[in-house]
Amino acid sequence: MAIEITESTLATVGIVTVRRALPRRQRRMVGAWCFADHLGPADATPTHGLDVGPHPHCGLQTVTWLTQGEVLHHDSLGTEQLIAPGQLNLMTAGREVSHSEEATGSYAGPVEGIQLWMAQPSATRDGDPAFEHHAALPVLALDGGHATVLVGALGGTQSPARIDSPIVGAELLLTGPARVPVDPAFEHGLVVLSGSVEIEGETLAPGHLGHLEPGGNELVLEPDGPARVMLLGGVPFPEPIVMWWNYVIRSRAEATAAHRAWLADDGRFGTVGSALDRITVDLPPWA
Ligand code: MN
Repeated sequence: MAIEITESTLATVGIVTVRRALPRRQRRMVGAWCFADHLGPADATPTHGLDVGPHPHCGLQTVTWLTQGEVLHHDSLGTEQLIAPGQLNLMTAGREVSHSEEATGSYAGPVEGIQLWMAQPSATRDGDPAFEHHAALPVLALDGGHATVLVGALGGTQSPARIDSPIVGAELLLTGPARVPVDPAFEHGLVVLSGSVEIEGETLAPGHLGHLEPGGNELVLEPDGPARVMLLGGVPFPEPIVMWWNYVIRSRAEATAAHRAWLADDGRFGTVGSALDRITVDLPPWA
C-alpha cells in the first residue's frame, strides 16, 4: 500500500499557532474529515486560553481533543463545558450554531490538542444543532500500545459519540510496533502529534498528513520511541462540498447567505455567553 504525504500549513487561530493538516490543495478530505488543526502548545493563563471568540458553523461536527491543558467551550445552545485530556467535545452544527473556546478562569499552563471537523451529509446537515461531552471513551489494546476511540469503531471497539457517516477517529499511543485493524472500505489519514512513526517505508512526524487509500485491513506502524498519532478514516465522502471560512455547504450562494446573517447578527446563529469579541471576516469575494 502506498502512503501519500502532504505537508501541513501553519496558521493562527485565536492566539495559537496551528499545523493545518486538512484541508490542503492536494488532499481536501479523508472520509468525512474535512479539517484538522494540530494546535499549540500555547501558554494559557486563567484569563487567556485559546481565546477563540464566538464564530458560526454550518453543516459540520467539531471534534475537540486535548493532549495537554484545559479549555472552556461555550455555544449558542447554552452549553458551558470544560474539556481536559482524554475527553471529547463534539458539537453538531446542522443548519447553524455558534461557539467560543476560552480560558477556564483557573487553569494555567500549556494547551495542546487537535480540532477536527466532520462534514455532515445532506441527510443531516439541515438538522438541529447539538452538543455532546464524553468524559471517558473506550480503549482498544494494541500490541505496541493502545487506541482511544473518539468516534466510530476500531477493531470492534465502538465510541458512544454521534456520527453521521461511516467514519473513525482514534488516538494511538504507541511505544512499540503496532498492527491497527481497520475497515478496508475506509481511506485513512494519520496526523502525528508527538514522536514519529514509520509506515509503509515512510516516516511521519508532526506537520504531516499521511494518507492511505481504501483496501487494507490493517495499518502497521513502527514508532521511533513513544508516539501519539491521530488516526482519521472513513468511506470517501460521496458528496461534493464547498468549504468557505467556517461553513461546510454545497454552494457559494449558501455561504453568502450564512455569512450575511452572521455579519448582521440577525439572530440566525443565536448568541454565545462570552466576553470575547465575535469573530468576523469580510464577505466572500464572489458576494
Ligand atoms: Mn469553531
